[in-house]
Amino acid sequence: MAAEVSIDLPVPASVLAIGAHADDVEFGGGATLAKWAERGADVHLLVLTDGSKGTWEAGASPPELVVERRREQEKAAAVLGIRDVSFLDLVDGELTSGRAEQGLVCAAIRSLRPELVMGHDPWQRYRLHPDHRHAGFLVTDAIVAARDPHFFPEQAMAPHRPARLLLFEADTPDHFERAEGFLDTKVEALLCHRSQWETTMDIDADAPDTDAQRDAFARRVIDEAATAGAPAGLTHAEAFKLIDDL
Ligand SMILES: [Zn+2]
Repeated sequence: MAAEVSIDLPVPASVLAIGAHADDVEFGGGATLAKWAERGADVHLLVLTDGSKGTWEAGASPPELVVERRREQEKAAAVLGIRDVSFLDLVDGELTSGRAEQGLVCAAIRSLRPELVMGHDPWQRYRLHPDHRHAGFLVTDAIVAARDPHFFPEQAMAPHRPARLLLFEADTPDHFERAEGFLDTKVEALLCHRSQWETTMDIDADAPDTDAQRDAFARRVIDEAATAGAPAGLTHAEAFKLIDDL
């Protein structure tokens, strides 16, 4: 734990949350986004991949899954109070952080001009999923590009420097957002991602005890918020790495 930690930023006027997959942002910062949206922040979500590999069913149709996950993400975003969702539809599981992808994220930052950007921590150690690592680097690299006028001049957009970057799943968290009152909303948003119940939430929709499994998942989210908040002396929180010298 870093020597200095901070708790609760002032509510940002505008936020761009960037996730590799539908549901990543809800897991990483769903309560915080719901809290800020309720308190007047203009919250936007950018989903980088099309979610086409997010199932254990070998016979599933990837194009159908893409459509389903998009619908789920839009429902979840509405639950959190997110104003709009954009999808880059890059291929799930094959995300890279090359110049082309960086340009797309840079353009999103320049067009929405958020005060705060939220994304994956690319430096989280021993992370296996490559999309999460690449999504993290895309966010950090695109912030550098978005703020400097000589990066992607062909975009013909004014540069934009966000004031703050919050990284979720942080390797060394040093910022905490109180989550009391918003964990039920976080759970409700996560449960909108029904196609992910089995693979990421341990919920079998066909089991006789689906409701009990769903309750267990909700408890898990609340327990994780308790664990996340403990180092800062908070009952329930979401933990981030805060970078504010952008
Ligand atoms: Zn993910």
